[in-house]
Order: sequence, then C-alpha cells, then structure tokens
Amino acid sequence: MSRIVALTGAGISVASGLPTFGEDTWRGRPVRQLLTKSFFVRYPEEFYNYYWEGLTPWQEAQPNAAHLALAQAGATIITQNIDGLHQAAGSQDVLELHGNLRELICEACGTLYAAKDRRVAAGVPHCPVDQQILKPNVVLFEEVPHGFDTAIELLSGADWLLVIGTSLQVAPACYLPEFARRLRVPVKIINDAAEIEVPRWLREQRLLPN
Ligand SMILES: [Zn+2]
Repeated sequence: MSRIVALTGAGISVASGLPTFGEDTWRGRPVRQLLTKSFFVRYPEEFYNYYWEGLTPWQEAQPNAAHLALAQAGATIITQNIDGLHQAAGSQDVLELHGNLRELICEACGTLYAAKDRRVAAGVPHCPVDQQILKPNVVLFEEVPHGFDTAIELLSGADWLLVIGTSLQVAPACYLPEFARRLRVPVKIINDAAEIEVPRWLREQRLLPN
C-alpha cells in the first residue's frame, strides 16, 4: 500500500468553520498580534482572555471530510495547524510543527498540562509545581517552529507528498515540497475545497474504498 505523507495548513480546516489566523481579529485586535511571544510576555492577562474566550471556535470545531479521509487512508500527517483536528479524525501519526491548543506547557520545568485540567484552566495559569506562568503549547509568532528534521525523515521513502491548504509561506513547512523533489517523492497540491478534493484524490489513488 502506498505511503502518503500529507502536509496540511489552515485551508484544510476552513470547512470546519475555522478562519485562518492571519486574517482574524478579536475585540478589534489582530490575532496575529495577540499570538506573538512579545504580547504573551507583556500582557499575559489579555493573552489568556483571548485564549480562553476568543479561541472557543477552535475548541468546538469538528474534523471535516478531508481530515477523515486522510485518517482512513492511514496518511502520515505533518501539519502547520494547531487545531488538533487530525487527531480528532483518528490520525495516529501527526507531527504538529506549530504545536497545539490542547496543552499548556511550563517552560521552566517542561511539564505539559491539558488545557482542560481544572488546576490550570482559568485566568493566567501557573505551574502547580513551581508557580511559573504556563504557555500554550503552540509556537507563537516570533518563535521558531520545531520538528523539521522529523518531517524530512517522515518524507523519506514516502510514495506521495500531498500538500493541502497551505500557501507555503511559513518556514519550515514551505521547504518540504523542495525536499520531496530532491527525494524523488512526487508532490500533489490541493489548495481549494479540500473537503471534496482530498477524498476524491485518495479514491483515485485507490487509497479509499469507492
Ligand atoms: Zn513548572
């Protein structure tokens, strides 16, 4: 059976009702500003107001047909998204280049907490162990994404790189198609209507039942 690696961006979650971070605003402030490291450090209360209230759509979103088809086809996922919808769809192998919204991390001691954990799930959360302010386990703007080496490893030996709903403007994800070409992994790009085009393409490749 073919081994598919899917690189996904915000476009795959549009049909789940999620706007892209680049365009969204909350209480008149651009989300792109709210989600910077410097804003988090200077205004943790306002940052967490947004995290607990403004991100409600992200916590309530459901995977759409594109996420579900990739899970059914057993695709390995490399995603720029922080919405957790690939896991919600049942995908087992998911590399989240920009982290996720499900967890809070203590950067002092490295402990991860579920964002639903009652010990931390309100106001500006602090680590129960050392009282440091927790940070959502996402790569904020001004921070460096991780996992690129792992992404290259996942790509090696793949039969396809399927690029879905990403404008490929953000490093490191934007380099993956070039690495795929060097590794002689064919690249298929799907930008629009992922919830229709992804299942259709997977069926054409006989990776999904008709
Ligand atoms: Zn800690």
